[in-house]
Amino acid sequence: MAQPLTHIIGGRPFAATATQWEPIYNPATEDVLAEVPLDDQTAVSAAVDAASTAFSSWKNTPIFERARIMFRYWELLQRHREELARLVTQEHGKVLADADQEVGRGIEVVELAASAPSLLKGEILPLVAHGVEASMLRVPLGVVAGITPFNFPAMIPLWMIPPAVVAGNTFVLKPSERTPLTSMRLLELLREAGLPDGVVNLIHGGKSVVDAVLSHPEIRAVSFVGSQPVAEYVYRTAAYHGKRVQALGGAKNFHVVMPDAELPKTVEALIGSAFGAAGERCLAGSVVLAVGHVADRLQDALVEAGRSMTVGPGWEPGTDMGPLIRQSHRERVRGYIARGISEGARLILDGRQHALPERGFFLGPTIFDGVDPRMTIAREEIFGPVLSMIRVPDLATAVAIANGSSYGNTATIYTESGGHAQYFRDHIQAGMVGINIGVAAPVAVFPFAGWKHSFYGDLHATGMDAFMFYTERRVVTARWWR
Ligand code: NAD
Repeated sequence: MAQPLTHIIGGRPFAATATQWEPIYNPATEDVLAEVPLDDQTAVSAAVDAASTAFSSWKNTPIFERARIMFRYWELLQRHREELARLVTQEHGKVLADADQEVGRGIEVVELAASAPSLLKGEILPLVAHGVEASMLRVPLGVVAGITPFNFPAMIPLWMIPPAVVAGNTFVLKPSERTPLTSMRLLELLREAGLPDGVVNLIHGGKSVVDAVLSHPEIRAVSFVGSQPVAEYVYRTAAYHGKRVQALGGAKNFHVVMPDAELPKTVEALIGSAFGAAGERCLAGSVVLAVGHVADRLQDALVEAGRSMTVGPGWEPGTDMGPLIRQSHRERVRGYIARGISEGARLILDGRQHALPERGFFLGPTIFDGVDPRMTIAREEIFGPVLSMIRVPDLATAVAIANGSSYGNTATIYTESGGHAQYFRDHIQAGMVGINIGVAAPVAVFPFAGWKHSFYGDLHATGMDAFMFYTERRVVTARWWR
């Protein structure tokens, strides 16, 4: 067996007593990097105990001290940025430049958390009645938990941990069992930044461990990011157990190209959106709605750009696209390609025929034209490098098709017309909207989440929403007689 991973509880390695273990692969080489325990539920109570013990002193630590740890963490993350990006590329597969951007997006949240003393200030209103004053304080919840997906091993844990802990909570992280190594390194750096032991703990595992988290009576809130069925399950189950929940789910993202779009820039943005990280992004553009006469030119340019992409290990210079996460996932994506063909779509670029390395879970960029909105490839999240093109006569039809999706994560329009952009902004049903932007990921000072079945909950990730999610409001009404 390759190196067995330990949990990190109370600042120390905590040996796992699991009966089931799973290999963690480098998806570009198929080498086994380590083994992860899947069913060690005893670790959940140990982690919650450690977090609970740490909470009593952490919540009383002055906010400026907590914020200063974030400043030190920010500095350490910058110093280790390349190392972290390499770790992401090694366990996830995405190309180094993309991994570096991911780490950068995570660091943004640390920056936000460092401004907590300003953001967490309360409110006060004197004279709500004769001699009476009202005030509102934000207080931490206690022990909170985060459950993260495989596709952003650095950024998504960093959406959760910095705002939660700077607000005075203590944390239990359950990272993806497919990419847990980056999260472990993030915790080591937090400790180096001066975070007291037990404030953040990490437990490995799969479904049974998640279930133990969702029902643990001492966990006050759960942040989840992952696929739609699991997001819905986590939302229902954690809420049933009385917890506050935010659960970000899957997506099917539509990109509308208007005839007046700046074509070369649009193609560049679309290719990056559809094939960046091999399509394994919740913000990946997966359906392009070509309006009117732009379709033929767009199709030719997309095929040419997709065909010329270099697919290979993410750490090699010149690589445009890395592998998929696992062999089983590649089979699933290939299944969607077969389904597209059998349902009558026209395969105009076949990623199965692309020049690919011999080892690794690679698949080339794939494009369908002549797609009908009712086809499976137009409706379901594929999470791979497959782009479907639907030809539509006008913007209203494009928006109606996009709004027919059960998802509503992100949507983008490519146009130089302010009127078209405004119509799109005002009518599209999506939480994150792009105008000439291929991946419209909000910067950390704004909230991040989709609508419809892409999100279950109320308060989004990051921005002021994150601080609202991780705090309780206490309103004090006071009268003084002397
Ligand atoms: P996943 O749902 O398989 O796993 C996410 C987490 O849930 C993991 O930690 C996993 O261990 C756990 N889990 C898996 N199955 C479970 C079950 N049956 N019961 C309880 N817990 C379970 O997701 P993934 O494949 O790791 O990530 C990809 C998905 O995440 C895509 O659907 C993508 O769109 C979505 N995602 C969404 C966002 C967003 O912002 N909305 C961001 C990133 C990823």
